[in-house]
Amino acid sequence: MPTNPITPTIPLDADGEHHGFLRLPYSRDDSAWGSVMIPITVIKNGDGPTALLTGANHGDEYEGPIALVDLALTLKAPDITGRVIIIPALNYPAFQAGLRTSPIDRGNMNRSFPGKPDGTVTQKIADYLFSVLVPEADVVLDFHSGGKTLDFIPFASAHVLDNKDQQAACLAAVEAFNAPYTVMLLEIDNVGMYDTAVEDQGKVFVTTELGGGGTATAASAGIAKKGVRNVLKHAGILKGDIEKSPSVILDMPDGDCFVFSEDSGLIETMKDLGDTVAKGEIVARVWPADRTGCHPTDYRANRSGILASRHFPGLVKAGDCIAVVAVVVE
Ligand SMILES: [Zn+2]
Repeated sequence: MPTNPITPTIPLDADGEHHGFLRLPYSRDDSAWGSVMIPITVIKNGDGPTALLTGANHGDEYEGPIALVDLALTLKAPDITGRVIIIPALNYPAFQAGLRTSPIDRGNMNRSFPGKPDGTVTQKIADYLFSVLVPEADVVLDFHSGGKTLDFIPFASAHVLDNKDQQAACLAAVEAFNAPYTVMLLEIDNVGMYDTAVEDQGKVFVTTELGGGGTATAASAGIAKKGVRNVLKHAGILKGDIEKSPSVILDMPDGDCFVFSEDSGLIETMKDLGDTVAKGEIVARVWPADRTGCHPTDYRANRSGILASRHFPGLVKAGDCIAVVAVVVE
């Protein structure tokens, strides 16, 4: 089995605050012996739990990077017990390019796990997480948002797991994150996901969808900053009380939550994020973009709930997810 080529430029297990890089050799036209330099901060104070915090798993999602560069700068070793490993931009080449996937190998980080030590750049990063960092972690927080093509109500989520003790531990950490919405998430495409790889190692895992559209707002970045500190407090790493506000519990129980377009064209959203939606109600219409005098196609909710996500750009293609309806749990 080949070993992973990534070398940290800082110690991963020394007390204090260390800022450096995960250096991944990447030979290419403009740098024969070049490297991808993925920023990393490790903050440690004595023995205790380890938290692994990642943003920009998808490179065009910004709440995680903002919250994590802020945390890397402001969190000090005396504030904690244990260790915090912070990687604000996990798919760093994608983040640098402002893209969901890596411009080097088109790698979608969240479809690349468990990775390959002798694979592409994206597969090597995934393998380093999977084989080196995740095994040392007790709690793992991976930030997501909708990126350029989706927008979400701000939520933190846990998955339905076979191990109900682990599921309960994940849900408790998600509730500690305290986003405005808390979701039990059904993944529609979970093969190769970081989430699945971390959960399969028995870890406490928290993920989020905090907004989207290829940007962050003051509100969504604030939710991320509060949430990450709350998770560290919940894990017993950071001192202080968890900051709690009311959070609406949502469920996405099956594929009926998702509405996909069968047309390409101009999308007219008929509901905004957070709006109440009744089963059968029109959530969006798709107009032909290449002619006048034609009726739009109506897309209807398959179940009642609230609009949790929607397609963001004004033009839509056949096969795009145009709406997600989540069920409010009383
Ligand atoms: Zn994402």
